[in-house]
Amino acid sequence: MNEKIVIAIDGYAACGKSTLAKDLAKSLKYAYVDSGAMYRAVTLYFLDNNVDIKDETAVELALNNIKIHFENIEGKNHTFLNDTDVEEEIRTMRISDFVSPVSTVSAVRRAMVKQQQAMGETKGVVMDGRDIGTVVFKNAELKLFLTASPKVRTERRLAEWQNKGVTDLSFDDVQKNLLDRDHIDSTREDSPLRQAEDAIVIDNSELSPKQQMERALDLATKQIEKKTLIDVNPS
Ligand code: C5P
Repeated sequence: MNEKIVIAIDGYAACGKSTLAKDLAKSLKYAYVDSGAMYRAVTLYFLDNNVDIKDETAVELALNNIKIHFENIEGKNHTFLNDTDVEEEIRTMRISDFVSPVSTVSAVRRAMVKQQQAMGETKGVVMDGRDIGTVVFKNAELKLFLTASPKVRTERRLAEWQNKGVTDLSFDDVQKNLLDRDHIDSTREDSPLRQAEDAIVIDNSELSPKQQMERALDLATKQIEKKTLIDVNPS
């Protein structure tokens, strides 16, 4: 019986983290957790309830009223905020424009990290985000750090919008949102986005999702074999 591991995937906005995380989880029969969706759900709640992120009491109160869970509906991961399916709403520009400032708030991060760590307790999880290898799962058996050029990332995200029928966003609008988020995410005081020392970097600018998946699956399989051997023959 193979031992289960934790796979942490971090990287900049729109560099293919969730595609890879989903594919890995499916292939390994692991749980997939989109940590960004959790920050997006908190952002939706804050916007809808006029929570001022500078008001510590209001933030704590709001966090006590937020319950996030995931459900797999017809093979697709759906995010629920207080039992309402918010999967579509959290992907809109209204949320994308405000999620990074919300994610700088330490109380928000503490609440999300606690839930994320609980989800990884039994291992067998692939989680993607910004601080998974550096904060949430410092001991993850496999840490990947994805990068891609800003141009490639913008083109991919723009294509996603267009596939959804959103045609009023320009290349510059999308690029600005990605770069603004990268800047806020990597310069914030609490858990800034950075590559963990033991993370393996994959630059996927020139890779297809399939090629990227092959590389990552190979790394994961090696780590699973290593862990299984160690557990069978403890020294
Ligand atoms: O992954 P996604 O792009 O949907 O994440 C949205 C935002 O949530 C990020 O730009 C970042 O501000 C925040 N985030 C975070 N820590 C994580 C995951 C996401 O701060 N682990």
